[in-house]
Amino acid sequence: MEEKGCLGIPRALMFYRYFPFWRTFFERLGWKVVVSDGTIRREKIVFFEDSCLPMKLLVTHAVQLREKVDHLFIPRLVSIHRTYIMCPKFRGAPDVVRLATEGKVSVIDETIDLRKGGLSLLQSFLKIGEKLGSTRQEGKKAFREAEHSFNGFQRGWVDRINQLPTRHLFEMDIPIPAQRSRQGCPEPYMVQGATSSVEVGGKEIGAPLHVALIGHPYNLFDADINKDILSLAKNLGMKILTSDLLTEKEIDQELSDLSKEIYWSSGREIVGSLFHFLSSGVDGVVFLTSFKCGIDALLQEFIKRRLKVRGGSSIPLLILSFDEHTGREGLTTRLEAFRDVMEEQKRLQIAKCKRM
Ligand code: SF4
Repeated sequence: MEEKGCLGIPRALMFYRYFPFWRTFFERLGWKVVVSDGTIRREKIVFFEDSCLPMKLLVTHAVQLREKVDHLFIPRLVSIHRTYIMCPKFRGAPDVVRLATEGKVSVIDETIDLRKGGLSLLQSFLKIGEKLGSTRQEGKKAFREAEHSFNGFQRGWVDRINQLPTRHLFEMDIPIPAQRSRQGCPEPYMVQGATSSVEVGGKEIGAPLHVALIGHPYNLFDADINKDILSLAKNLGMKILTSDLLTEKEIDQELSDLSKEIYWSSGREIVGSLFHFLSSGVDGVVFLTSFKCGIDALLQEFIKRRLKVRGGSSIPLLILSFDEHTGREGLTTRLEAFRDVMEEQKRLQIAKCKRM
């Protein structure tokens, strides 16, 4: 198909979940997809008051792209769930970008609101296709291929986060390396003093530390926000798990006895998966939050109260808050200390098992 032009996608916010879908959709319609660069120097971040870092980064990336593309894709994400809504800042995101780019580029800002029914996502993308000059027929075909590509990408996700450098996580053309054989590889991380693995409740103790990273997708995978915590954790020998592993049903089960309903879809995913992992035998849970995020602040309260009601958890929990001033050195120190706590817990568990 003849190339119709360039369509820009800022490397920010829900790029960190839906890029495989978006890229396939636009490419099948004949557009060259251009993504902004990662790694923004702190002084380059577009500043606007009272905003969280993820929103500032959206604007910064959009400004970076404005002269390189024909259109910017900034969907108005109202809801990505049948019942629950997104943070209100997502509704205003296209308008904030329009202001910041001073009208110098066309912004494709179709509303996505899955509360309107099962076909609403398809309808939104058909409208986007029409705005870009495609027929409904072409739009439907591109949508199906995008769904297929997204599902395939999700299936390889755990291997991807554990085997690829953070900057390549969303490079769809980079294949996941085959699992390396033990020979010639660094030894998996073992608890100091553990001479052998012990099987407890179906889980091997003495194997690498399994750590669940919980948070909004951009907090987890945008190295400009989290100072590449994924690499730091992997270098400390941790195997990473995320909520992408869990089904909606598993998350709902964890939330079924909450005294108050959580209305934000991302909030539900965060709290549900956090409680799932705190009771499922991982070695530690890290909750990554954004400074100035009202939702994250409320979720922390929810989590603290719920833990109190349940009598706490024996699994260590670390809560990290990020903004543009967060330094990598301090983060490394906190992560190393967290690893020590997890090791200690593991040693105690091994000693207990050996006594049984
Ligand atoms: S959920 Fe929080 S971090 Fe995300 S955009 Fe809204 S305010 Fe910012």
